Amino acid sequence: MELWQQMIRDSVHTVDQLVEKFGLDHKVAQELDGFFQARINPYYLSLIRYPGDPIWLQCVPDKKELEDFDAEEDPLMEDAMSPVPNITHRYPDRALFLVTSQCGIYCRFCTRKRKVGDHEKISMKGLESAFKYLEEHTEIRDVILSGGDPLMLTDAMLEKILQRLRQIPHIEIIRLGSKMPCVLPQRITPKLVNMLKKYHPIYCNTHFNHPWEITPESSKACQMMADAGIPMGNQMVIMKGVNDDPAVVKELVQKLLKIRVRPYYMYMADETKGANHFRTSVETGLKILEALRGHTSGLAVPHFVIDAPGGGGKIPLVPNYVLHHDEEKIILRNYQNKIYTYKNYADKNNPEGFGTKVKKNGKNGKIKKEEFKPRRIVKVPVLEEV
Ligand SMILES: *Cc1c(COP(=O)(O)O)cnc(C)c1O
Ligand code: SF4
Repeated sequence: MELWQQMIRDSVHTVDQLVEKFGLDHKVAQELDGFFQARINPYYLSLIRYPGDPIWLQCVPDKKELEDFDAEEDPLMEDAMSPVPNITHRYPDRALFLVTSQCGIYCRFCTRKRKVGDHEKISMKGLESAFKYLEEHTEIRDVILSGGDPLMLTDAMLEKILQRLRQIPHIEIIRLGSKMPCVLPQRITPKLVNMLKKYHPIYCNTHFNHPWEITPESSKACQMMADAGIPMGNQMVIMKGVNDDPAVVKELVQKLLKIRVRPYYMYMADETKGANHFRTSVETGLKILEALRGHTSGLAVPHFVIDAPGGGGKIPLVPNYVLHHDEEKIILRNYQNKIYTYKNYADKNNPEGFGTKVKKNGKNGKIKKEEFKPRRIVKVPVLEEV
């Protein structure tokens, strides 16, 4: 057994352990266990500094989870968008492929609580209908291995899946969605990365939420992935008491760049049964973004998105930098709230814009537009990369 597998076995997971370690009431612990099991591996457990700290909140069961039983179990309608078991196909050219229901820890804020943690093993045979679907759907060029956490699979099982995917000519890129570099960095071994790099192009999105998660161990894991040629991205979730503070997020994103992980998405916490006590206002997210853009490296600024309830997908939000916009001009503010006017040139999308020539039609005095000839190639102003 590899070290990381032993560490999974050594996780805090029983009702008695929860009572003993975290002082939970026995009955509450039992109820929580029935709702969404606990798994706190010894590495992640060691990051806790005091009760109720940002690490604790993410992994220790809390009786608040039992309070919002009315919320949706599947707010993103992932199940409705699943044409065959283990596939979620929401976007035209890419699909999620759920290869396991196990994770290195069980996050209390997870939106897939309904799915993760059940002990049903997924076998290659069980994935056959998913592979068939991916083979038949030639429009899919990007497959995201997800779960659960795909790095909970053994190297051998993961390699079988990658080999099979690489036999499908229209699949151009493979992404891993894995929290392991953050929550169980011991999973990232030389053997794993040497195997992964045979199946390039591979990308990995991991999931750090707080600067305390950046340790010598997790730094090493991310750098090993990067050294194997796997571009690393980070998807974080804004959570009350964890990272709903611009200073915390700024420290996190700057530290991520140092370990060669590029901030990719910053999500609003979804409305999910058992996780609503983590939710924050949209304004909190906008404030965080506002505190990053212009104030630190653009590379450190993630896209702020809301995963639309009902399966609409990720929708980007940006603070409002546009104070006024018409055919002739756009008035903008910068990150320091200084105001700038930018001439809006004419082109085929805006024939009324600056630089349009008009001439009077002599007979009835009506204005007739000359055939449009742009004076120069005009760039439409890009306000914010979204
Ligand atoms: C997030 C997500 C993707 C990937 O989206 P990108 O914007 O390409 O990173 C694909 N499918 C589903 C169902 C998703 O939720
Ligand atoms: S690792 Fe991901 S899928 Fe697993 S419990 Fe955490 S958030 Fe949910």
